[in-house]
Amino acid sequence: MLEKAQELLKTYFGYSSFRKGQEQAISSVLEGKNTVCVMPTGGGKSIVYQIPALALPGTTLVISPLISLMKDQVDTLLQLGIPAAYINSSLSPQEAEQTMVEAMHGGYKLLYVAPERLESYDFQEMLQHLQVPLVAVDEAHCISQWGHDFRPSYLQIARLMDKLQGNSVVLALTATATPRVREDICATLSIDPINSVLTGFERENLSFSVVKGQDRHAFLKDYVRKNKSEAGIIYAATRKTVDQLYDWLQKEGIDASRYHAGMSDNERANEQDRFLKDQADVMVATSAFGMGIDKSNIRYVVHYQMPKNMESYYQEAGRAGRDGLPSECTVLYSPQDVQIQRFLIDQSAEQVRMSQELEKLQQMVDYCHTEGCLQAFILEYFGDHEAEPCGRCGNCTDTRSSVDVTKEAQMVLSCIIRMGQKFGKSITANVLTGSRNKKVLELGFDNLSTYGILKEQSAKQVTELIEFLISANLIGVEQGTYPTIYVAPAGKDVLTGKQQVFRKEAVQIKQVANDDPLFEELRQLRKTVAEGEHVPPFVIFSDSSLKDMCARLPQNEEEFLQVSGVGQHKLEKYGEVFLKAILEFAAANPERERVLTSSVPPKTKTKPAKKGVNDSHLETYKLHKEGLTVQEIAAKRELAVSTMENHLIQCIQNGMEVDFSNLIPDKFSPDLEKAVAEAGREKLKPIKELLPDEVSYFMIKVFLYKLRKQEKAIVD
Ligand code: ADP
Ligand code: ZN
Repeated sequence: MLEKAQELLKTYFGYSSFRKGQEQAISSVLEGKNTVCVMPTGGGKSIVYQIPALALPGTTLVISPLISLMKDQVDTLLQLGIPAAYINSSLSPQEAEQTMVEAMHGGYKLLYVAPERLESYDFQEMLQHLQVPLVAVDEAHCISQWGHDFRPSYLQIARLMDKLQGNSVVLALTATATPRVREDICATLSIDPINSVLTGFERENLSFSVVKGQDRHAFLKDYVRKNKSEAGIIYAATRKTVDQLYDWLQKEGIDASRYHAGMSDNERANEQDRFLKDQADVMVATSAFGMGIDKSNIRYVVHYQMPKNMESYYQEAGRAGRDGLPSECTVLYSPQDVQIQRFLIDQSAEQVRMSQELEKLQQMVDYCHTEGCLQAFILEYFGDHEAEPCGRCGNCTDTRSSVDVTKEAQMVLSCIIRMGQKFGKSITANVLTGSRNKKVLELGFDNLSTYGILKEQSAKQVTELIEFLISANLIGVEQGTYPTIYVAPAGKDVLTGKQQVFRKEAVQIKQVANDDPLFEELRQLRKTVAEGEHVPPFVIFSDSSLKDMCARLPQNEEEFLQVSGVGQHKLEKYGEVFLKAILEFAAANPERERVLTSSVPPKTKTKPAKKGVNDSHLETYKLHKEGLTVQEIAAKRELAVSTMENHLIQCIQNGMEVDFSNLIPDKFSPDLEKAVAEAGREKLKPIKELLPDEVSYFMIKVFLYKLRKQEKAIVD
């Protein structure tokens, strides 16, 4: 049976091997077991039901809440030569009727329906005449009240399964991992939890980063310019910001589209369409955009403002790189964002949920401030406590050195005080740089002792310095029509010389992907072909297929078939035009070399090199050595406990001596010893399960280091 699945994968989809979890989930379904499959976005869930649908007789029903997605999915299947259709409210009653008649004649291998449709009498009638070997429930978390997206109509699915008289297998698919939601899915759909296929949540092609203390307008401009012609999404917290950014990008000559709830349905659909069809490179949107967007070639997602919690963040950022190619996810953090999000929570949440929302917001803020691995922070948040540093994110790859800017900081802070702590950033910068600006003179600020003390810098540089001091919580911002700045409590310690300030150089912006003229050419060709077929370009070929063509430079049909994502049907449909373009390019560029193995990055993980320690780690270490507990250090430094723990772990890894009895209370040592003896040292989770709740993962990690150290001492 699996051999057949493998063959279908190659002939229809043009892929030569299954990804993590796909094979296991497909076998489970083919063995007739109800199954739940949890994979991150872009993990390849569609193939998990599409291959059994091809292998089994009859028509597979796919239940999906996302009407916009159904059309793309059906278009994609038709492009692969697989007969498929959908029934939802976007069809006229006549069209729906026609589709049902065709279905009853066995015309489709897959039929997509919205859950509401299950209640319709006509639809139930039709089912009586349909052979349904498999019901695939997409976005299955919608079944659970604990999920973030509960849909009552999903509860109809259980009744549907009864009607199908138990002859059909059910396969639930979701990217939401919490155990609570999974339990609900299994209970509602009669799935034995043994038949759960879970892959890790890491997105191995995404690199996360947080940019703070930098002018975000300037950053964004530079970023979008450097990545022109790549598709990207810029998320902003409010409609107003979306409109402002959109106008500004347009003025900069960048093809942008926009999306928020204040626009008409029509406008929104148009703008979305332009983005999907690669007619606009950038989408500027509020979080209203993205549900049901299948565009696979999104190279970057920038959050212009910090989102409200990690759940939304991972979902929105996760829209980058569904095709598996390297992509970037960046948050441009500024402390004002916290106030905006607080305000939005105040406005929307019911009282009971408020404290929960605020706590989630705090974790988002912690993410923006952690100095540990960002991907690991996310995975840890979602319950994977064994995540290792990714080696790709902004923190893992940070080699910037920090500079002591205590003196300049003191100048800025004392200037703010002299100005009465009731003015904004830009006039403060003007005073510091000694500007002859009318307002500065009118207010007599040229008489202050701090007037012009930073005159060797530009006003822009000083504004950035102020921005940095804000993000370091040394300067506070009083919101209002004209936000004003004041010296925060920690800033006072700097003024009195009790605290030093270190600043890192600005983040250098790199291109997400390298330019390749052949890739550009193939992308244009794809766009033209797509227009002729009335489908979005990524439905014709994914970016990773185009990249693979660029690397292999196929010369004939046989070689074209080797390209990842090229199956029999696509070869027949598009082989000729694409081969022609590639051959012409190769003839004109004889120096271009062919790479005969796949260019698609392998899914294996390389272990990142051990990271060094920086000033911030040393600060934490110093406080630890003074005898403070991790909690005390976190409170003192106003940083997250998890960040402090990461610092200390890194210090240990770098061979620095720590005080183990401070990190692990003595009373836990016997339990820890017993648990490690029983569960082994390979994984932390089995150890954790044997211990009282108060013993944290951090303590276990530290304990294992301690053991190793003791053993090493004996050997030495
Ligand atoms: P999900 O629904 O889990 O978000 P998709 O099913 O949309 O993910 O798959 C994401 C991308 O990965 C698609 O472009 C798909 O064609 C590709 N893909 C899926 N399985 C494989 C595989 N075994 N080898 C290579 N690419 C794959
Ligand atoms: Zn990392």
